[in-house]
Amino acid sequence: MAIRNIRVDGDDILRKVCKPVTEMTPRIQTLIEDMYDTMYEANGVGLAAPQVGILKRIVVIDVCDGESYTLINPEIVEESGVQEGDEGCLSLPGLVGTVVRPDRVVCKALDENMNEITVVGEGLLARAICHELDHLDGILYKDKTLDGLYSVEAPKED
Ligand code: ZN
Repeated sequence: MAIRNIRVDGDDILRKVCKPVTEMTPRIQTLIEDMYDTMYEANGVGLAAPQVGILKRIVVIDVCDGESYTLINPEIVEESGVQEGDEGCLSLPGLVGTVVRPDRVVCKALDENMNEITVVGEGLLARAICHELDHLDGILYKDKTLDGLYSVEAPKED
């Protein structure tokens, strides 16, 4: 088990576009294992490779629905519906913001064996897929909030 250092907002690497994975290697297998360890250690529901300083199109997601998802070179091929809700990010600790996302997405990707998979996400899983895929293109959720960021310790008033 290896916990990697999570890059935080302000680190240039979070703003870069990641490169596709062309073949599975022992180094990438280790990266994926470490990404899960790092995500669980930080109590996150998703983590993208650039958050641990690696510019590859890999995300891991576990929204506690009984399944975890390793998505390599993921692409959203279908989206529908709308959900508005609070979002946080391990790279912006202590903050949340309200983001509008599709309520349902269909995502095509490769799994850790480089087999093609299709993941249908609804609700929180759809939100997590959108959030993590944004990371692969250097986009942070704070770019998309309806009314900025606020501290999780001090709930927004409205
Ligand atoms: Zn994030």
